[in-house]
Amino acid sequence: MDAVFKCEGCREKFTWTADEQKAWFEEYRFYVDSQARHCRECRIEHRHLAALRKEYDETVGEARGQGTAE
Ligand SMILES: [Zn+2]
Repeated sequence: MDAVFKCEGCREKFTWTADEQKAWFEEYRFYVDSQARHCRECRIEHRHLAALRKEYDETVGEARGQGTAE
């Protein structure tokens, strides 16, 4: 059954199709609820952006810590 979720990443509603669910179950052998919280695009992005995001957050954190004097 297709299921509609609201993506926590981009806030868009997305459909997790029966085919995608099937592929997910077959690949991972278990249901990961958190995966249904993000649309396909966000899931894919999240994988390779996770590292960049962490780096970005740290950079922004440092910049804020140093203030805007410069
Ligand atoms: Zn999304």
